[in-house]
Amino acid sequence: MRRVLVPATVLVTLAAAGTPAISSAAGTSAVTPAAAAGGGRWAPQKVPVAEGYGGAVATVDLDASKAAIAVLRKGGNAVDAAVAAGAVLGVTEPYSAGLAGGGFIVYYDARDREVHTIDGRETAPKAMTSTSFEGVPFEEGVTSGLSAGVPGTVAQWDVALRRFGTISLRQALQPAIEVAAKGFVVDQTFADQTKQNEARFKDFTSTAKLYLPGGAPPVVGSVFRNPELAATYRELARRGPGWLYGGQLGREIVATVKRPPITPGATRKVRPGLMELSDLRAYRAPLREPTRVDYQGLRVYGMAPPSSGGSTVGEALNILEALPQVGLHEYLEASRLAFADRNKYVADVPGVPLKELLSDGYAKERACLVGDRAMAHPAAPGAPDGDYGPCERPTGTTTPTAAEGPETTHLVVADRWGNVVAYNLTIESTGGNGIVVPGRGFLLNNELTDFTFGPAPGDPNLPGPGKRSRSSMAPTIVFDDGRPVLAVGSPGGATIITTVLQILMNRYEWGMSLPEAVAAPRASQRNGAQTQAEQAFLDAHRAELEARGHAFAVTPEIGAATALEFLSRTKVQAVAEPTRRGGGSAMVVRPSG
Ligand code: GLU
Repeated sequence: MRRVLVPATVLVTLAAAGTPAISSAAGTSAVTPAAAAGGGRWAPQKVPVAEGYGGAVATVDLDASKAAIAVLRKGGNAVDAAVAAGAVLGVTEPYSAGLAGGGFIVYYDARDREVHTIDGRETAPKAMTSTSFEGVPFEEGVTSGLSAGVPGTVAQWDVALRRFGTISLRQALQPAIEVAAKGFVVDQTFADQTKQNEARFKDFTSTAKLYLPGGAPPVVGSVFRNPELAATYRELARRGPGWLYGGQLGREIVATVKRPPITPGATRKVRPGLMELSDLRAYRAPLREPTRVDYQGLRVYGMAPPSSGGSTVGEALNILEALPQVGLHEYLEASRLAFADRNKYVADVPGVPLKELLSDGYAKERACLVGDRAMAHPAAPGAPDGDYGPCERPTGTTTPTAAEGPETTHLVVADRWGNVVAYNLTIESTGGNGIVVPGRGFLLNNELTDFTFGPAPGDPNLPGPGKRSRSSMAPTIVFDDGRPVLAVGSPGGATIITTVLQILMNRYEWGMSLPEAVAAPRASQRNGAQTQAEQAFLDAHRAELEARGHAFAVTPEIGAATALEFLSRTKVQAVAEPTRRGGGSAMVVRPSG
């Protein structure tokens, strides 16, 4: 039987955070044709929760959700809709995602009843070595050609559509072409993110021209058009992925990486990159085995390396399952231990001990270290060697959790056939490396900053030729009795892992509905001396957890999750954030009630 412990403090926390009452938020895929631009056109509003039938989507953005729903309405499946929505996010959330980025897709195929994952992670160029980032200040790496990985997104879209989709890449790009050409309304998040990037955007002629029109960030409420990106998507639709992976667009990306278009007079030191056209030609987006753990009768699938998302969420779940009770203290401790192992063992290297890290025997050994009080910092990694004692105290050296940018985006889609997609896509930092490819309307990623810069002997996440930097992205699908019941994911760098874990705990241990679980205040322990936490979390739990030895640092916002849950075989509840990052957009094909 599953435990459902609902500590009173959790309920208090929800009230403090102003979580919207579910009755008023649910089932409101509101359609207000009269208020719509263009008169009688279908004009749904941005709401964080929607329930109904025929397919569902949750993204951070109304235009992206609309694109997914339009594809589903026309008979497309969840993969088609996810690619269409992802391409729109490249227009409307260009600082988090884009065609020159990367990502991970976790996909449940209702036909073969299997979970498939597609790895669209960027790769390091062949010329990159373990010392390529040594001595480079992190901030300098962030805005550089050196940090641009070989883009994975277009290859991943292509693989996803060919293998699992029903429409062509050309068709999937149409909604994004339309949004890029007609424009979207600038919201506070877009304006804030532009402002936050203003200094470095100014330093590149192409970026300043696109995102600082007239020398300043676009104003909230204005319409932002990106005709160059519309043209790029159109040409990509016509020519196919080879245009990027070895063709003219690829040549322009390489030229930009090697000779970033620095504004005359800018004093910024911009390191050139090592990417060659041959790196683009060599890029592949492979299918990988998902990670899998069983938790309280549920089966949880996630993304395997090069992401650490699936293994770290999975190990923490196993540790929690091995504990006699599960409250916030245990959640923080399990996460601390799982991060100690992630940092030591999980990266894009051969021989990651995945099976052992996700074994129940190992989880029991690790769980044994969880006491009444927060364990001493830092927690040492364990020995996932197949030989598990009742309570082994590890003595190994700790690999610290490195700095990671906090931005990307996540979306979920389900279709009428019961296929489910959880899809994280990213260009790493907010604004990627800050460099727009001249005349093409998109930013380059700086995903290679997710490598450990070093020197760090023994760290599995040092750069290498063709290697993928370790990710924390954790698109996750949960099954009960062989059927998908929930999908969830988030942006947030390494906090992605704790956000997904906390939402699962909120939902399955602490009695919250999915909208409550997503809205609830968050805390993130990643084997750090302090646990990062949102103010509302601290207001509710600080005293209780400090009394048990936890130390906190306040942070304004953790993550921006999207999720969905099957309320019955055919009825789905789609859930986005009510307030974080300006709130997201949940929609269904046929709203219920
Ligand atoms: N680069 C990050 C990762 O792969 C994703 C972007 C972010 O949210 O920081 O984990």
